[in-house]
Amino acid sequence: MKIKALGAVGTVTGSCFRLEMAGGAKVLLDCGMFQGGRQTELRNFDARPYEPAALNALVLTHAHIDHSGLVPRLVKTGYGGPVFATPATCDLLKILWLDAAHIQEHEAVWKSRKNRRQGRRDVEPLFTEEDARRAMTRLTPLDFNVDREIVPGLILRLTPAGHILGAAGAHFTALENGRQVRVAFSGDLGRTSQFLMPPPAPLPPAETIFLETTYGNRRHKDLNVSVEELLAAIDSAWRGKGKIIIPAFAVERTQELLMVLARAWHEERLPRDLPVILDSPLAAAALGIYSDHRRLFDQDSQTFLNQWTDGEILPTLRLTKNAEESQALNGIPGSALIIAGSGMANAGRILHHLKHNLWRPNCHVVFVGFQAQGTTGRRLVEGGKMVKIFREAVRVEARIHTIGGFSGHADQAELLAWLGCQIKPGLTVNLVHGEPASTRDFHDLAQAAFPEASFHIPQWLGYAALSGDKDPPDLKAETSPEVPAVNQALSASFLNRLDRLRDRAPAAGTLPPDQLALLEKYLEQAESLLLTGSIV
Ligand code: ZN
Repeated sequence: MKIKALGAVGTVTGSCFRLEMAGGAKVLLDCGMFQGGRQTELRNFDARPYEPAALNALVLTHAHIDHSGLVPRLVKTGYGGPVFATPATCDLLKILWLDAAHIQEHEAVWKSRKNRRQGRRDVEPLFTEEDARRAMTRLTPLDFNVDREIVPGLILRLTPAGHILGAAGAHFTALENGRQVRVAFSGDLGRTSQFLMPPPAPLPPAETIFLETTYGNRRHKDLNVSVEELLAAIDSAWRGKGKIIIPAFAVERTQELLMVLARAWHEERLPRDLPVILDSPLAAAALGIYSDHRRLFDQDSQTFLNQWTDGEILPTLRLTKNAEESQALNGIPGSALIIAGSGMANAGRILHHLKHNLWRPNCHVVFVGFQAQGTTGRRLVEGGKMVKIFREAVRVEARIHTIGGFSGHADQAELLAWLGCQIKPGLTVNLVHGEPASTRDFHDLAQAAFPEASFHIPQWLGYAALSGDKDPPDLKAETSPEVPAVNQALSASFLNRLDRLRDRAPAAGTLPPDQLALLEKYLEQAESLLLTGSIV
């Protein structure tokens, strides 16, 4: 067997590995969307490395878009086999793929309109709602801890990984030339104590492991401290009659927050007259799926929930039904807690709430998740005094809180502890799914802690190290084979400067619109030349 890394190496997005069996069968583990920066996102449009028509099976560890988001694209470009995932993951995918398709279609319309004004071609969406619905017909549920032969000679077992509802680690056993090959993927690994999910289970024995390293160089704050910080911020806003605004991811983070608030309500630590408003159709749909799969929660959460009827769990919870109800929230007097997406405040309904409240000193904005570079969320947590929302500058007078303990990923200590249960002499470990600094730090730490195992960092489109390899691939700089490294570096700094220019020019009014359009056209041509070698 050989395993090729098609994503989530040198980055945390685009998770995808291809198992290539000696007999010729090919199986994909995860097929995630690349996110964060146009250069990275261009990879989403090139289906060739995935060889969709040549694949025999696809396995998904969990429903997050950076692990599953390219499946509709894969089906669109020729994949017709089964997609194995746990039943809860299958249910979540049905709403997440549709949501992703609508975003892709919307973006394509918006870009095409812009292009037409400049006499350029229309943009095709990455995939459409129809592609998403076709992908759903391929879903094949597989329960945790059940062995299933997914292609002749290859047995799959999914094990609980914590992280989010339905998330799994994937263990493969292959029989090749009379020899057993066992390979295990951690998937995204949850924390030892999370709010809803039990801790990740150890994987069955394997000679080769793939381990995520999102937080390979960081430790999380204590969970209980984070809850206290959240309740203190809520209390302070409530006393000042201000709004509490929480940008939150629709799956897991929102449901965890509601669980924390429900417990606080029953412990009489949440104001009785404070409305809690979930203003996200996607998060509300996910809430229903969480409720359907409650038996996957940890025992403590199940015991708590089983005491109440649905309406009693958090009596002050309200779900908005449509955009009108969402807009009406701007007019409600007094204090209210509003949870809305997106989690990084770069799109979605949260932008309206921020625009209407950021300038109010009695408003509190609480960030409970990672904020990527370039997002409105990142500018706020870094203390920006002015942010642009819908092309309008908004002064920041609100109190901004960053609460770090709500992560769904194991931190450095938890990764090491989990690995410690799997370690044996001769084990080969591939470190993936991390920013380069995080993965490298964890590599050095883990190699020193477990000298009996060998640690490797695969490169993008390269082959991973497998136990028994005579000449394992090793630490190499990540370069794309299609684009020379010098162009990659050049274009990265070029794209950053272009983004800064785009941000500044219209606000300052330094350029008339026609000149700005001309400048954009030249810059895009230069960008295309750098990235693809030709002007599109
Ligand atoms: Zn994930």
